[in-house]
Amino acid sequence: MVLERGEVANSWRHERWDSLRLLTPNWQCRLPGVRYEGPDPDGYMTMAEVVEMVERFAAPALGCVRTGTNVTSVRLTDDGYRVITSAGEIGCRTVVLASGACNRPTMPSFADAVPPTVEQLTAFTYRDPSHLADGGVLVVGASATGVQLAAELSRSGRPVTLSVGEHVRLPRTYRGRDVLWWMDASGIWDQRYDELDDLTRARRLPSPQLVGTPEHSTLDLNALSSMGVELVGRWAAVRDGRALFSGGLRNVCSLADLKMNRLLGVFDEWAAAGGSGGSGGSGGEVDPPEPLAPTQVPDSPRLQLDLRSGEIRTVVWATGFRPDYRWLDVPVLDAKAQLRHDGGVVDSPGLYALGLPVLRRRKSTFILGIEDDARDVIEHLTGFLASDSRVLVNPSPAG
Ligand SMILES: Cc1cc2nc3c(=O)[nH]c(=O)nc-3n(C[C@H](O)[C@H](O)[C@H](O)COP(=O)(O)OP(=O)(O)OC[C@H]3O[C@@H](n4cnc5c(N)ncnc54)[C@H](O)[C@@H]3O)c2cc1C
Repeated sequence: MVLERGEVANSWRHERWDSLRLLTPNWQCRLPGVRYEGPDPDGYMTMAEVVEMVERFAAPALGCVRTGTNVTSVRLTDDGYRVITSAGEIGCRTVVLASGACNRPTMPSFADAVPPTVEQLTAFTYRDPSHLADGGVLVVGASATGVQLAAELSRSGRPVTLSVGEHVRLPRTYRGRDVLWWMDASGIWDQRYDELDDLTRARRLPSPQLVGTPEHSTLDLNALSSMGVELVGRWAAVRDGRALFSGGLRNVCSLADLKMNRLLGVFDEWAAAGGSGGSGGSGGEVDPPEPLAPTQVPDSPRLQLDLRSGEIRTVVWATGFRPDYRWLDVPVLDAKAQLRHDGGVVDSPGLYALGLPVLRRRKSTFILGIEDDARDVIEHLTGFLASDSRVLVNPSPAG
């Protein structure tokens, strides 16, 4: 039984901004048995197209899906789990937590100190530029969400300042191929969670600076600067109505350049070794290696900005997302409110997770990761059920 508080593909319908397209190319957006079959395998889906794909995938299983059913509590019992929902209670031996990694936007606590004259939005409340007051916008965070919203707001004619912390820089295409083709073909996306040097870090890595556009354009900080977006350092505090920014902008940009070049070097080595692979996209050889220009950082980026001056009318927080487990009454969260699990096997008998970053592989963070992850996790789950001697007293909904 699949319980969903909203509709099928709820997050894609209701929790994304209007212009968003996936950053993974169409041929990479696959669900078990559902592949992109349209005319543009190298393009990027709109939200309506993602919803259509998820609906197509869910159609044969709709008999097991209960939409409009909010899970408000999951408790461990002697014979499994007691699941309390807005439509009654359910007893079950196993529960798979597939409630998503991005249920709530993250914001620093000093957001409370932003003067009330400045409107604050998040990636969940932002829809399009027309809903913002005229005037300056401070976008906070330079990962996929932040760079996309900064570009869109700048194109709307507003002065945009972008506060840049740690980020992952990537070109949209490299040596003539989508950079995510390289991740797939070179085997990086198949790297297993138990083979990574620093799994905690891999799981916390910000999303890459990528955008899916028909032009396949790169949206890094250089592209934003050339559009007129002002770059400042990481937003560290609010004092007396002033936003204070870190002086480390140059360092975070150098680090992102270094890591990008290291990754591109891995691609080059793979290609030089005669690498072949990749499960899709347009075929053909790769172009020769192409060096990328370092990130251009302003000589003296502003270190503070007076939020009471009227220069900034809106702050858009693009500082990441987090899961919401407030309904989970099983003690399986760590001090950072993240689920304790080993490749989706949660630290409580019969409890599993899917759909979390680097759950079992690097690609778990993306839609294309679910097929392999689900196979592995469900194999463990069926083994658990086969060996579980507990007797379930009441497996049916008791409304
Ligand atoms: C802004 C953004 C852009 C992204 N872009 C891409 C991309 O380009 N390509 C890509 O491959 N991936 C992308 N991702 C990642 C992608 O969202 C995930 O890989 C995928 O959505 C995971 O699916 P899921 O079903 O596990 O989680 P979700 O899509 O989050 O679905 C979880 C579902 O659980 C429901 N739920 C939550 N709590 C409860 C509850 N208590 N009771 C009942 N139901 C509940 C929610 O309503 C939701 O429908 C993006 C994510 C974000 C946030």
